[in-house]
Amino acid sequence: MRGEAFLQSLNDGRNVWLEGIQVPNVPAHAAFKGTLETIRQLFNMLDDPAVRDSVGYKVESTGKYAHSSFLVPYTREQLAQRSSSFDRWSQETHGMMSRLSDYARSLVTGWYAARDELSQLDPHFKDKITRYYEQARDNDLFLTTAIIDPQIDRSKNLDDKRIAERFLHVVRETSEGIVVRGAKMIATGAPYTHDFIISSFLKFEAANRSHAHVLIVPANSPGLHIVCRESFASTSELNHPLSANYDEMDAVLFFDDVLIPWERVLLFGDAQKVLTLRDNKTANALAFHQNIVRYVAKLEFVTGVAFAITESIGAQGFLHVQEKLGELLTQIDVIKALVLASEAQAKPDKSGVLVPELSFIHTARNIGTKFYPRAIEILQQVGGGGFVQAPSGIEDFYGPLADLMHNYFEGASVSAEKKVQLLKLAWDLIGSPLGSRHELYERFYAGDPVRGYANHFLSFDKERLTAPVWNLLKKVSKDGKTLV
Ligand SMILES: Cc1cc2nc3c(=O)[nH]c(=O)nc-3n(C[C@H](O)[C@H](O)[C@H](O)COP(=O)(O)OP(=O)(O)OC[C@H]3O[C@@H](n4cnc5c(N)ncnc54)[C@H](O)[C@@H]3O)c2cc1C
Repeated sequence: MRGEAFLQSLNDGRNVWLEGIQVPNVPAHAAFKGTLETIRQLFNMLDDPAVRDSVGYKVESTGKYAHSSFLVPYTREQLAQRSSSFDRWSQETHGMMSRLSDYARSLVTGWYAARDELSQLDPHFKDKITRYYEQARDNDLFLTTAIIDPQIDRSKNLDDKRIAERFLHVVRETSEGIVVRGAKMIATGAPYTHDFIISSFLKFEAANRSHAHVLIVPANSPGLHIVCRESFASTSELNHPLSANYDEMDAVLFFDDVLIPWERVLLFGDAQKVLTLRDNKTANALAFHQNIVRYVAKLEFVTGVAFAITESIGAQGFLHVQEKLGELLTQIDVIKALVLASEAQAKPDKSGVLVPELSFIHTARNIGTKFYPRAIEILQQVGGGGFVQAPSGIEDFYGPLADLMHNYFEGASVSAEKKVQLLKLAWDLIGSPLGSRHELYERFYAGDPVRGYANHFLSFDKERLTAPVWNLLKKVSKDGKTLV
């Protein structure tokens, strides 16, 4: 089964660091075990004839199933197939796992889909991306991205030696490949990824040759160190159902002179070419489309929890509570509508690939940065202090205080035990370290939200909106009394 093969593949000599210790066996470590079990089950869906068509498709050349994030959509049906596969994994994980690799796989699929156009950037690009795409697709490679450079001093740029030395750059070119040094700020899913897609959001100048590259880096590359944040994983599924299963680990990457074989160097040395690849519409639309499909599942989940909380404490009848629950439904409809609009307005690119409309996707990603924190705020407002009233453990229901527990924790419409379980689930969303990380994630995963909105404005065809305004303003006669 693919899930088991995935777990076994992770003992490949990678350098994963947690609390100062090099993790000897990633799948067996408590920090990763629950999350990897979730991924194992998701991967195995592709081997189950009853469900595999909901997440995968049969690759013609191999006759084997691959995840639909690798499917290049030429028809509406294929685009819908991609969308429903993203939805299926997201629903299975309540939208809490955003980097199940279907996002990064979609980026690779997009580059592959646009390979003819992108071959203008580099004569080897087309062959390299084709070979890598097929390898990733046929071997169920788990991928993640690491784009952002370390947060050292954001007021400085590459002209500053301190910055230039620490941001990822090429220190040597050899016949085998390039040797890179520096760091990347965050890669979610890093300890259990197979390969990192490495690029940068920097505003390059032509002179920044050694910082301009797009690479695919194996996680077990000698000299690569994966430095994890504190683990938020819990071993108690009863008390922390989300932290026990969905802690997608974030990590910083240190590249201590890592050799990247030429085969994995998609671009190097030309800032303009890297910027062109970064802005490729086909790849970005296919990848960002996954983000917003996943987001619907998460908003639905938080809304479901809010509904259940108000039901369990008898608060659903209050007008202001109803208004807030209605706001949560509005959030879901807004993102759902943007997903549908992006799919309905999909247009073929030069190669005939059906590309979802990016403008709607950008809007969903931008507005999404505000929706999730607001959804969490609403959950707090409608639940009041109930979240901290919950006892330290469900175990209290099975101890000497059992009768009193059942008596005093009783809910309006549910048993005491169910109510406490629900409050604990909600606390995992609003108050646990995992919950806080999720709020930060939704604010920032799509990049800096301030610049996200600003970029939407900058790239918009403004004349379409301003022309009717200027046209409405008529000329005034010389005496200022009549319109001409
Ligand atoms: C939980 C989590 C997981 C993540 N996972 C990944 C991942 O898997 N892969 C990945 O590549 N990235 C990942 N990221 C990184 C994410 O893309 C960045 O956090 C995001 O792009 C914002 O950049 P930053 O954090 O460096 O913030 P900064 O750019 O340092 O911003 C800090 C503040 O300064 C302001 N600011 C900074 N520079 C400017 C400027 N030039 N103009 C105007 N305002 C400015 C910002 O508006 C903000 O208020 C993750 C982030 C989080 C929180």
